[in-house]
Amino acid sequence: MCAEGGRAAQELFFRKRKRNTRYSRGGGGERAGAISTGYLSIIFYILGFILLFMESNIDQSSINRPLKDYRAIVFDLDGTLAPSKSELDAEMRSLLVSLLHSKKVAIISGGSFNQFKKQIIDPFAKVLHSNLSNLLLFPTCGAQQYSYHDSWQRIYALEIPPEEKDRIIKTLDAVIDRLNLRPIEQWGALIEDRGSQITYSALGQQAPLYEKEKWDPDQKKRLAMKQLLDPILPDFEVRIGGATSVDVTMKGIDKAYGIRKIMEALKLSARDIMFVGDALYPGGNDHPALQTGVDAYAVQNPEDTKALIRSIVGDAVEGFI
Ligand SMILES: [Mg+2]
Repeated sequence: MCAEGGRAAQELFFRKRKRNTRYSRGGGGERAGAISTGYLSIIFYILGFILLFMESNIDQSSINRPLKDYRAIVFDLDGTLAPSKSELDAEMRSLLVSLLHSKKVAIISGGSFNQFKKQIIDPFAKVLHSNLSNLLLFPTCGAQQYSYHDSWQRIYALEIPPEEKDRIIKTLDAVIDRLNLRPIEQWGALIEDRGSQITYSALGQQAPLYEKEKWDPDQKKRLAMKQLLDPILPDFEVRIGGATSVDVTMKGIDKAYGIRKIMEALKLSARDIMFVGDALYPGGNDHPALQTGVDAYAVQNPEDTKALIRSIVGDAVEGFI
């Protein structure tokens, strides 16, 4: 769906990847240096410079206009603003505070509001609240929105109807038993109702990371679950997430859905928005964002994101908070 609108952003993303490749291979001059002496090497040097020049032109055209012209920047959370399930660090907080002076900022992730609270809201509680009204939070891929009006308030929340929730929970329970996956030791509830999403965590929601990591490293257990769940729950999306989770969500709730909700909330069109994510590649959970026609900027990690924000806010960065 919406493939037409996504093509431009998709091209943009691939041009962006091309630029990253250029950084990693160190320019055409090195290749020319491998040839010993004489005119040939000079010609190679010249060719190298021409190639670099051409790529730098691609570079500039890869963002449709200066970064400062985008009215809103939308960030993925895990791997983009912070390492997975971690808090924003002090430098990122400072950069976001600076960015919030001039831009609307939205953060979208598959995580629950509780996860947003740990990773974003609590760290931001140390910061003056003056411009938090420019920050919008979209947990569970935009099935919920939270905005700041003296405190964080839920603006809307899509809910799976109660009878459907019951059916999903009973089905999950039956599949756990059928595959003999009930844990001997568990940390918190195995099944969590997140409103728009039912999440199964094999060892419980609070299981320590080292226990989680060894439970299903090859995803075989969860793939077997998905195989059984898919035909029983055809109206829902069953996705493997994290180290031990299986998420059951309403169909069609992904980053594309979330970005359309962000456009609606901010009353902006796709051309006003730049999306920043670490999983824009096909199959990545940011990839659906490209369907919306927004410009997309691929990062590898939060450090890349910091560099991007710096290029927007320039010297306006406040001290670490
Ligand atoms: Mg991510």
